[in-house]
Amino acid sequence: MSASADLIKVIVIQPTPYCNLNCGYCYLPDRDNGQRMQLETLNAVGRNVLANPITSDPVTVVWHAGEPMTLSPAWYEEAFSCLAAAAPGRKIQHSFQSNAVGINNAWIDLWSQWDVVIGVSLDGPADLHDRHRKTRGGRGSFALTMRGVEQLQARGYPFHIISVLTAESLTDPDRIFDFYRDHQLRNVCFNVEEIEGGNDTSSLKGPEFESAYKKFIRRFMERSRSLPDPFHCREIDGVTRLIGAPAETRKHNPQVRPLELVSIAVDGKMSTFSPEFLGVKAPEFNDFVFADVHFDGPEAMLLHPAFQRLYGDITAGVEACRKSCSYFDVCGGGAPSNKYFELGSCRGTETFYCRLTRQATLEGVLAAYENDMELV
Ligand code: SF4
Repeated sequence: MSASADLIKVIVIQPTPYCNLNCGYCYLPDRDNGQRMQLETLNAVGRNVLANPITSDPVTVVWHAGEPMTLSPAWYEEAFSCLAAAAPGRKIQHSFQSNAVGINNAWIDLWSQWDVVIGVSLDGPADLHDRHRKTRGGRGSFALTMRGVEQLQARGYPFHIISVLTAESLTDPDRIFDFYRDHQLRNVCFNVEEIEGGNDTSSLKGPEFESAYKKFIRRFMERSRSLPDPFHCREIDGVTRLIGAPAETRKHNPQVRPLELVSIAVDGKMSTFSPEFLGVKAPEFNDFVFADVHFDGPEAMLLHPAFQRLYGDITAGVEACRKSCSYFDVCGGGAPSNKYFELGSCRGTETFYCRLTRQATLEGVLAAYENDMELV
């Protein structure tokens, strides 16, 4: 396999595995570990990944797989400068996914200076959010997150919300919609409570939740489209973009393409495919570690026997999806990590995750459009 066949488009960097919260559905396996990425490792990321000719321009760098804000703005100032110096002229789009606890002017100054994309994890109204998103002392974190949201809004800094949907949240889409509308949160993404990593069950497992999820998406879309200025919703906008897109674009799936996503752990270990593989114990795949950024570029991963075994399984899973699933042309074979965690192998096909996030999402959006046409 040639490394030039797939350019690196997204680099997920784990600045620390640590998280200051303790959410009930968290999948991160090592969130008590307070290790921080060392400058030597950041220099190696710059030298072997950012400056690498197989890295695309622009490239997205996502600071994730732990709570990024448990480090300081000064740490990121040094990290961003280090990566920029390694690849002069390359556009690096930094992105944080954060619980927003502790946002202050120093953070917003940093993000403004480097044009950082911010996603805030917020699950809707206080009772829904606090049911799962707990502090380490066991209290709800809603007030702390909303304080961060208010800081961003006061400074006019743009951000989006990522909400994890659970069984309770699917019961009342109107209440969640009203909460976002009333708090001027108009850019929303939905994740589902996944069976992944350290989270081995989900309140959404069962056929009744596929129907509830479809109804949720449909209702949210209908409410949004009734406004003069509809919400941006990743799920709804994503399906809308697919309609009329060329077939090859529709089934593009970065998680099954070697090196399109490169994940780098706090200690410099590198992986590819689903970022959720980072830190997972899996002896048959060398714990999904295929190279070390201190010594190698990402292309070295292609030569590792464990990478080749995993890629063989992922390719077989995609082929099985192609042959068996009527949603393949808008999905491209799903997320390898969800197949691995739910089915025990990436060679499998349907997961509860794809039935919700691919199949029910598509059906929910199409149902809302069909409803529009009936009303014309
Ligand atoms: S929707 Fe599920 S079964 Fe269908 S192609 Fe995607 S991952 Fe495979």
